[in-house]
Amino acid sequence: MVSNPNKLTIHEAHELLKTKQLSSVELTKACLERIRQVEPQVKAIVTVTEELALKQAEQADKLLAAGKASPLTGIPALIKDNMCTRGVKTTCSSKMLENFVPPYDATVIEKLNENGMVMVGKANMDEFAMGSSTENSALFTTHNPWDLSRVPGGSSGGSAAAVAAGEALYALGSDTGGSIRQPAGFCSVSGLKPTYGRVSRYGLVAFASSLDQIGPLTRDVTDCALVMNAIAGYDSRDSTSAPQSVPDYTKCLTGDIKGLRLGVPKEYFVTGMQPEVSSAINAAIKTLEGLGAKLEEVSLPSTKYALAVYYIIAPSEASANLARYDGVKYGFSYQQGSTMWENMEKTRQFGFGPEVKRRIMLGTYALSAGYYDAYYVKAQKVRTLIRREFDAVFEKFDALVTPTSPTLPFKIGEKAADPVSMYLSDVCTLPINIAGVPAMSIPAGFVNNLPVGMQLIAKPFAEETILKIAHAYEQAAGWVGRRKPEI
Ligand code: GLN
Repeated sequence: MVSNPNKLTIHEAHELLKTKQLSSVELTKACLERIRQVEPQVKAIVTVTEELALKQAEQADKLLAAGKASPLTGIPALIKDNMCTRGVKTTCSSKMLENFVPPYDATVIEKLNENGMVMVGKANMDEFAMGSSTENSALFTTHNPWDLSRVPGGSSGGSAAAVAAGEALYALGSDTGGSIRQPAGFCSVSGLKPTYGRVSRYGLVAFASSLDQIGPLTRDVTDCALVMNAIAGYDSRDSTSAPQSVPDYTKCLTGDIKGLRLGVPKEYFVTGMQPEVSSAINAAIKTLEGLGAKLEEVSLPSTKYALAVYYIIAPSEASANLARYDGVKYGFSYQQGSTMWENMEKTRQFGFGPEVKRRIMLGTYALSAGYYDAYYVKAQKVRTLIRREFDAVFEKFDALVTPTSPTLPFKIGEKAADPVSMYLSDVCTLPINIAGVPAMSIPAGFVNNLPVGMQLIAKPFAEETILKIAHAYEQAAGWVGRRKPEI
């Protein structure tokens, strides 16, 4: 009997499943047991799908016995609660969708099901993915398993916390401005935001459609590659999905990064950054140099505009996307008003939380006649400049290295009352979505027992370069990935 199989990586568990040292039912029960044990403190999960998981595990064991298993077959996963799951509530951690049961599966769910996924539940998040701490969840706040008084990051905070705490072997998150990478950094797991268009968003509840991407949160880099193999690829149901063929992402994990040219953009070491974070990243940079990579400082001067550009474009798109919650089509519906307009107004008044309303107001303002050119059009122009700077830098460099966040995981409540300081948590991750390029956060050590994340960025569709560097670093810094929270 394998002890604590819920804490294994996907590839470790797969070996044991394949050689019959472990069954998927045993592995799934270990995760469900762990969920019962830690959920009262961690609160990462909105819906536990125990019955479904056990059924899928039995099914997976049959596939394994028949020798028809993929590397993900029988592996328990947790899905962020903004991805549609047929017959299973998909709340977006909002009152608006608290009882919404989608009639169809998102493409990523279909793909994972084809790979024999065992879904143990749906993960908590900031309402409609707006936030950096899960404190904007209308349901409850998730706690960081490394220090329960601190936030796990957000908006995919439930996904990251659950993977760190051993509740599932991997999770899916979504990332519009940092929502996979920042919580991955805060919880010491690996989180990849793929190139815009690499993974289908069909069935992902839209936040900001020109920025949203789905990606994996895993315990190590190999696992990230395995999940990418399953979820990436063209989908005719998502018009922004990219036609490029999907490589086997595990092939690039050679450990050899000699001669790779890595840029360190100085603008990402922002003022106000905690000095412990920059020292941890500088130490990680030394490790990369030790592996034979060539590091050099670079400049991306338009970085300073990224936060402002994001907080015009993302709310503008959100205000349009969220117009569909009118109490008529689906979700919460206020019915006691005397007119249709009153019902619609009250549906939105009671259904949306304060951050979502703030974004709708910001977006509506930026798009309104008279302000449109000054805000939205201007932001789109600056977006082009930011994108061009990345294009230019990637002529000379294979990848960029930055901190994932300027701070260590902060205390629950510390930034909740100050939206702007919360927005600043994402200064290092937002520019990546604006440019549409891929980026990943990997564990880069601990300061005072709190995780620090390092971000690796590459040009569009160069996920392999990122995974290669991340994997080489992970091997060299071995202890980082092997550490587990005490909870
Ligand atoms: N924290 C950022 C925001 O609030 C990014 C969120 C995300 O990536 N979904 O918009």
